Amino acid sequence: MFGPPGAGKGTQAALMVEKYNFRHVSTGDLLRHEIQARTELGKLAAELIEKGNLVPDEVVEEMILGELEAHPDVKGFIFDGFPRTVAQAECLDKMLEKRGEEITGVISIVIDDATVRDRIHHRAMIEDRKDDMDDATITTRILNYHKKTEPLIAYYKERDKYNEIYGVGSIKNIFTRISRLVDKTLKG
Ligand code: ADP
Repeated sequence: MFGPPGAGKGTQAALMVEKYNFRHVSTGDLLRHEIQARTELGKLAAELIEKGNLVPDEVVEEMILGELEAHPDVKGFIFDGFPRTVAQAECLDKMLEKRGEEITGVISIVIDDATVRDRIHHRAMIEDRKDDMDDATITTRILNYHKKTEPLIAYYKERDKYNEIYGVGSIKNIFTRISRLVDKTLKG
């Protein structure tokens, strides 16, 4: 699942887990668990996340490898919020190649920056995420998305893995769009 912060990746991933029985791996959720557990990694992550910055590639790459190794028998993984840089994408390709696996496809949820801001402001009233509270942090996250994550669109287009879904509409309608795409992709 690919898209800017607040695009609805997590919401849609949860629906995909229900329908397709894949395992959902959200690097954001994994990092928030570390923060809650007050681990060393959590302390480092908290500082970066609260300012809207990305955590180092190696940190999330290790988390992903841990997930792959911990769940060898799953039908498939939905990565949500990973990869977020070209270096992470290259690392993921290598990790999968070693296991004789590959990315099946990328689902990119497309929404504009103004909608991103609206969604995050709305989420701030529901969930207690420090990175949703402050406008400057939200701006940094949007900038980081454009600068560091958006280059992945070209990366996956070149590899013929990239699919776009328009991300504005009801949760149900967007899930219908995603399901159509997943069904088509799984049929090959
Ligand atoms: P959102 O996409 O809505 O910002 P996430 O829960 O996916 O929320 O991510 C929250 C924060 O966690 C990010 O702003 C970033 O600091 C950190 N993070 C999550 N995934 C990654 C990643 N793959 N690489 C680096 N940092 C990450």
